[in-house]
Amino acid sequence: MNNKKILNTEAQSLSNASRIKYFDLVIESGKGSTLTDINGKKYIDLLASASATNTGHSHPHVVEAITHQAQKIVQYTPAYFANEPAAKLSNRLTQLAPMDGPVKLAWGNSGSDANDALIKFARGYTGRPNVVSFTGAYHGSTYGSMSASAVSLNMSRKMGPLMDGFYKVPFPSPWYQRSYETKDQFIERMFDEFKLPFETYLPADEVAVILVEPIQGDGGIAKAPTKYLEKVYQFAHKHGILFAVDEVNQGMGRTGKWWSIQNFPGIKPDLMSVGKSLASGMPLSAVIGKQKIMDSLSAPANVYTTAGNPVTTAASLATLDVIEDEHLLQRSYDLGLKAKAFFDKMQQKYDFVGDVRMYGLDGGIDIINPENKKADSDIATKIIYRMFELGVVMITVRGNILRFQPPLVITNAELKQAFDVIKQAMQDEANGKI
Ligand code: PLP
Repeated sequence: MNNKKILNTEAQSLSNASRIKYFDLVIESGKGSTLTDINGKKYIDLLASASATNTGHSHPHVVEAITHQAQKIVQYTPAYFANEPAAKLSNRLTQLAPMDGPVKLAWGNSGSDANDALIKFARGYTGRPNVVSFTGAYHGSTYGSMSASAVSLNMSRKMGPLMDGFYKVPFPSPWYQRSYETKDQFIERMFDEFKLPFETYLPADEVAVILVEPIQGDGGIAKAPTKYLEKVYQFAHKHGILFAVDEVNQGMGRTGKWWSIQNFPGIKPDLMSVGKSLASGMPLSAVIGKQKIMDSLSAPANVYTTAGNPVTTAASLATLDVIEDEHLLQRSYDLGLKAKAFFDKMQQKYDFVGDVRMYGLDGGIDIINPENKKADSDIATKIIYRMFELGVVMITVRGNILRFQPPLVITNAELKQAFDVIKQAMQDEANGKI
C-alpha cells in the first residue's frame, strides 16, 4: 500500500463516535482560505475548521509567534507560575471583554472545558445548583458542557445519566415563528415559553446561570431576536441569575464584532466562554467573567496543566494582532453583506433555497423541499457533495442548513470562486444532474 492509501485508511478508521463523516478528504496543508489534500487537489474552505481559524490557515504572523515562543519555552503550567504571553493575553482579553467593572479569566484547552468552568464559577458564586440553557445549543463534549447542550440525540444516547440540575428552554429560531404571528407576537410567545418552567417547577432563586449562544452555531446559524434576549437578560438580573454567553463559535470577529453578544447593544454578560479561533485553532480557551464571580472559587477548583500554555497564548496574542491589523471585523461585516446578496439571489433563482441568515461572515442557508417547503437534508447533502467535487468545502448543520463560515481573511478572488461553485452545484441540482 502506498503512503497516501495508508493515510486514507487511517482516516477511515477513526471511530464512529469521534468523526462526523462528510468527505473523503485527508488534508496535507492550508494557507489562508485554501486547503490542499494529500493528492495535491485544492479546496476553498468555507468551514474554517468549524470557525477555529478565523485568521486563516497558518497565518505567517501566528506561525512566527508559535515558532519564536517554542524556541524560548514550550510549557510551564500557569497553575503555578506566570508566563509572559499568558499574562499579556490576560490583560488584552479582559479589556476586550464586553463587561462592566473589573474582569478576570481562567484558562482552558477547549471550548467544552471553558463551558464546564463557566458552570463551576456560576454555581460557586451564586451557591445555586441549576443551569438553564437552550434547545439547539451546542456547548461541548465534556459531561458538563454536554449536559447543557441539546442539539443532537447522539449527544446523550447511551451516555446518561447526564449531570443533574440542567434545564432547557426553547431557542427562538426563526423557523418556529408561525405564519400568522408578527415578530413581536413570536417574541412574546417564546418569552412565555421561557418563563413557563420558572412558573411551574423551577424556582428562579435556585438557578445559578442562564447560558446562551446569542447566535446559535450548530443549532442552525440562527440569531435570537434582540428584544427576546433582552427580556431574558432582564429576567435573569431581576432574579439574581447570572447571564452567560458562549462565544466559542461566534466570537473572535466571526459576526463582524469581537463578540456576538455585541450585536445586542443592551446586554452585558456576567460570564463568557471563548475558544476555537482564540489562538487560531491552537488548543486554548478561557472563561472570562466579572472579578467577584471569578474570585468565588479557589485553586485547584479549575486547573488544567497545559491551559494557558506559553505557545498557545503567544499564538493568541498574534491572532489578536492579525484581527486588528488586517481590520478583520470590518472585513467580516463587508464580505457578509456580499455573501447575503449572493445567497439572496440564489434564493430568488432556486425554489429549494429557503431562509438566508447572515451575520458578518456567518451564514445559515436553509435548503427546503420545493413542494412542502420543509427542511430537506437530501438536497442539501447533494449540493455540498457536488461543491466538494468542484473544490469547495462546506458542511451542513441540522442536516439541511448550509453552514457558511469561511476564514475572515478569505480573498475577494477566493470568495468569487466559491460563489461560482455554489451556483454551479445548485444549477446541477436544479437540472436533476446530481
Ligand atoms: N461552544 C460552541 C458554541 C461550539 O460551537 C463548540 C464547538 O463546536 C464548543 C462550545 C465546544 O468547543 P470544543 O470543540 O473546542 O470543545
